[in-house]
Amino acid sequence: MSDDLRSIVALASCSSYDPDILSRKISSMLDQLGGLATFIRPGMKVLIKPNLLSAKDPMRAITTHPEMVAAVARMVRDLGAEVVVGDSPGGAKRGVARVWNNTGMAAMAKRENIELVSFEASGVVEHKIDGRSYFLAKPAVEADAIISIPKLKTHVLTLMTGAIKNMFGLIPGFRKANYHKQHPKPSDFAQVVVDILSLCPPQLTIMDAILAMEGDGPSSGTPRWTNLLLASADPVALDAVAAEIIGLRPDKVPTTKIASDAGLGYGWVEAVDIVGERLADVRIHDFKLTSNRMMELLPKFLVKIIDPYVWVRPAITSSDCTKCNTCVDSCPVGALSGPKGEIPSFDYDKCINCWCCHELCPSKAVFVDQSWLARKFIR
Ligand code: SF4
Ligand code: SF4
Repeated sequence: MSDDLRSIVALASCSSYDPDILSRKISSMLDQLGGLATFIRPGMKVLIKPNLLSAKDPMRAITTHPEMVAAVARMVRDLGAEVVVGDSPGGAKRGVARVWNNTGMAAMAKRENIELVSFEASGVVEHKIDGRSYFLAKPAVEADAIISIPKLKTHVLTLMTGAIKNMFGLIPGFRKANYHKQHPKPSDFAQVVVDILSLCPPQLTIMDAILAMEGDGPSSGTPRWTNLLLASADPVALDAVAAEIIGLRPDKVPTTKIASDAGLGYGWVEAVDIVGERLADVRIHDFKLTSNRMMELLPKFLVKIIDPYVWVRPAITSSDCTKCNTCVDSCPVGALSGPKGEIPSFDYDKCINCWCCHELCPSKAVFVDQSWLARKFIR
């Protein structure tokens, strides 16, 4: 990342995934950052890292739209660099091919002749930071440059997911659950995500905020047309601008705050040059944030005191549950159980509120349940 570009975020309005429109918009944003050639040189091996959380149609707004990836890949190739697309999709246990197919990535990759790499199968490289150990996907570590293409979504654990959180996907799937287990507090988990960002930072981030997700994201919220694209060499600044757009204070988003404090980028918009659209013109005043956000923002000592009366926890809507057992398999602490073919049940004494079950349920059957007082309080 070049220092003089760290604080520039390009912001463009874009209301369509039409390939020509996308190419034009992205190209003009990159020009405002000095051009793609500032980041990519001929002969480089470039990894494009989208957000492929689950095997869903891109119009559900859970995953990065494949046309975003196609547009960027074409530009990278035009500069004479090689490109592969990789991620560690959620639900990889049920087959990565299903994720590539359902998210539209397989068809796009075939059309554009791009190799798709699954981090589950590509091997890992161990890296340490302050005594903490991380196993990062080899294609990410070995790439000459990473272009991250996150999706703008709310997140019940970290309030929002964007540029910084997208790098958590560099950890292959089955290892991700362990990090949740070892770091149940949102701030501790955010530190894990920031560690990964610092070990393997993207050279460039281009956010798909055309069709975003509001409500209880990252998978059970509601698609919302926000009609925006953001690009920056500084993922922290990009997330800060995205947070402001949807009505979150960047310093309340744990990933942004921790990354900014660690000097990995600028986590407040006053330090950022926003080019293209004006922030004031694109703020969304009625964007629905997560229903548990007040609990995440409260001081921990207060949460402990009010805990018996004001609680927020996962629960299952029986009528939506297909009894697939994905939530049971994804719970890092065994707080969900039940034989296959039955609706799983929770052991709330074990539950660490990591929200993995909520994130990975393919049927939106896991919801954010709240006590009566919590509902009052949050409202
Ligand atoms: S709650 Fe969701 S993940 Fe769990 S068994 Fe039901 S459908 Fe599957
Ligand atoms: S029950 Fe859900 S929220 Fe609780 S620990 Fe398990 S996966 Fe996490």
